[in-house]
Amino acid sequence: MINTLKILKHQGNQFIKDVTKVILKEPFRGRPLISNEKVDVTELVNLCPTGAISSNPVKLDLGKCTFCAECALKFPEKIKFTSDYKISANELSSLIIKEGDDKPIELNPVLIRKAISSYFHSSLKLRQVSAAGDNSAELELNASGNVNFDISRFGIEFVASPRHADGIVITGPISENMVIPLQICLDAVPDPKIIILCGVDSISGGIFSGSPAINRNFLDKYQVDLFIPGNPPHPLTFINGVLDLIRR
Ligand code: SF4
Repeated sequence: MINTLKILKHQGNQFIKDVTKVILKEPFRGRPLISNEKVDVTELVNLCPTGAISSNPVKLDLGKCTFCAECALKFPEKIKFTSDYKISANELSSLIIKEGDDKPIELNPVLIRKAISSYFHSSLKLRQVSAAGDNSAELELNASGNVNFDISRFGIEFVASPRHADGIVITGPISENMVIPLQICLDAVPDPKIIILCGVDSISGGIFSGSPAINRNFLDKYQVDLFIPGNPPHPLTFINGVLDLIRR
């Protein structure tokens, strides 16, 4: 008993008291800043492996960015990544950062369905579907429930059955083989249901974009409520994004 108490005292409080005010350190990469510095834009655009950078003006699409940092390493005077982990959005246009932009990414309140804040404000059960995921985003979703991040204190939990869920969190680029299982899972969730895309692979296909093995037609049929960028997304990005969605 004494030893147990000693261990508890030694460990102290492990949970993060305020998940909105954490300061993350390198090598974490969050919301990028693009300066107005003149650089070889063609080289910058061409070095990005996922086509996330475009020109005139220079823009970086977080929905396509794998956060590999090649652009920031090659052009440090042009692009740098900040520690801002609140990068979720509910419209794809909000994920596009232009040169000179330095403002937080926020959800568009007009696009948040009324049912979401009415029903899920203090309790949200989610079913996770890995649609050909590589287990990285899945791992971070798992971590969001550990003693540090403790997402369940906000009433947000992952459940085993879609019949017990209020929505689904999709990871992975959605392979052809996962189209039917994904549809079956979503159909089993009672209305009103939330759809969250977690990670660059699910938002745009990531490095698998254009592969004949993926089929993203499923997404054309539904309104996506939340896009969570990252490769994989940090648990704090996930938690803050979902809280912003349900607590508006
Ligand atoms: S960090 Fe993002 S934008 Fe930059 S090169 Fe990598 S994928 Fe492209």
